[in-house]
Amino acid sequence: MKKNITVLGCTGSIGVQSLDVAEKAGFGVIALTAHKNVARTEEQIRKFRPKAAAMADEAAAKELRVKVADTGTKVYSGPEGVCECAAMEGADTVIDAIVGLAGLTPALTAVKAGKDLALANKEAIVAGGPLVLRAVKDAGVKLLPVDSEHSAIFQCLQASPPNKAVKKLILTASGGPFFGKTRQQLQNVTAADALKHPTWDMGAKITIDSASMFNKGLELIEAHFLFGMAPEAIDIVVHRESIIHSLIEFDDNSVLAQLGVSDMRIPIQYALTYPERFPSPVKELDLASIGRLTFFRPDYETFDCLGICREAVAKGGLFPAAVNSANEEANRLFREGRIGFLQLGELIRTAFDVTPEKEDFTLEDIFDVDKAARARVLAAAGV
Ligand code: NDP
Repeated sequence: MKKNITVLGCTGSIGVQSLDVAEKAGFGVIALTAHKNVARTEEQIRKFRPKAAAMADEAAAKELRVKVADTGTKVYSGPEGVCECAAMEGADTVIDAIVGLAGLTPALTAVKAGKDLALANKEAIVAGGPLVLRAVKDAGVKLLPVDSEHSAIFQCLQASPPNKAVKKLILTASGGPFFGKTRQQLQNVTAADALKHPTWDMGAKITIDSASMFNKGLELIEAHFLFGMAPEAIDIVVHRESIIHSLIEFDDNSVLAQLGVSDMRIPIQYALTYPERFPSPVKELDLASIGRLTFFRPDYETFDCLGICREAVAKGGLFPAAVNSANEEANRLFREGRIGFLQLGELIRTAFDVTPEKEDFTLEDIFDVDKAARARVLAAAGV
């Protein structure tokens, strides 16, 4: 299969794994974008020889321009430069692996330029769900999930009958490093404790989100938009081994699951080769050596972020965007050691106070609520 891709967020955990998949599959790389990591972007430019690259940070772009002057890769700068790359001619699929709301405008730009969108950047669909879905429909392109749970559901859905007959989606959650702990026991945990994820090696923001289970709340909202399922029809089950990546239940109570080792290169590759499949460098699943798979109900009391996300998606409109932005800010404060772990939910919830009730909203509304929610969190945290 011959394909050309662009990777937004090329220096991160998903970006690097996407390039690994592209290299092994022999895909061409049209453009690469990052924020500040000049050294890794330079390395990737030398290896993949893209037409263009962009650094969201202006100073980093300046530095990169000098470093790769001999390569023929044109270097753009700033958020506009990232969008130039997202729309760059020649790419069939754009992988959005940017972390946070910063990935929303580039995702919309790629779609409007007629690219299929392989979406890892869950914050984009959580905040801008209706806008992304409308843009995808208008452009007639494909929206392909990269998040492992959503890829699992997407893969299971390939086996559904024409009338779909899907009753329920079941998202699995590893439970993160604090599974089984009480709020009392979590009072003094630090970012370093939260960064020890049991099964996945990911970027810092999502690892903290996994520890607070805000990540599973984001995924619930993501699944609601991607698969058009009511939030009440999306269950969450804690599955410590991260072998079953998610499941769907049909009207006849038959359940399908997708399994595999915990390696993001499986969902990344499927998003790039769908509907086809090809050999992969990922290890085979050896169920006998794993022995046992375990399942638990999530603890909504200890992990209050889950309930906050359920509330936000039920309220609809700008509420998912507001809690996402509040979490981005609270997550950062926790990583910087400026707030405690148990303050996360408390602070994120303050976003509800500043969210306007609005069924139909624009990109500008999202950025307004982003500013308001972040300011509210900072004020409530007193930092
Ligand atoms: P990382 O933090 O490892 O990487 C983030 C990438 O985004 C980097 O390339 C970074 O550039 C770039 N970036 C950061 N800020 C900006 C900005 N303001 N403008 C443009 N680019 C920016 O994150 P992950 O790879 O872990 O996650 C990426 C996305 O994928 C997230 O939305 C996450 O939730 C999702 N995801 C991740 C999974 C994983 O296993 N890691 C699994 C499923 C989903 P630089 O390095 O220069 O700062």
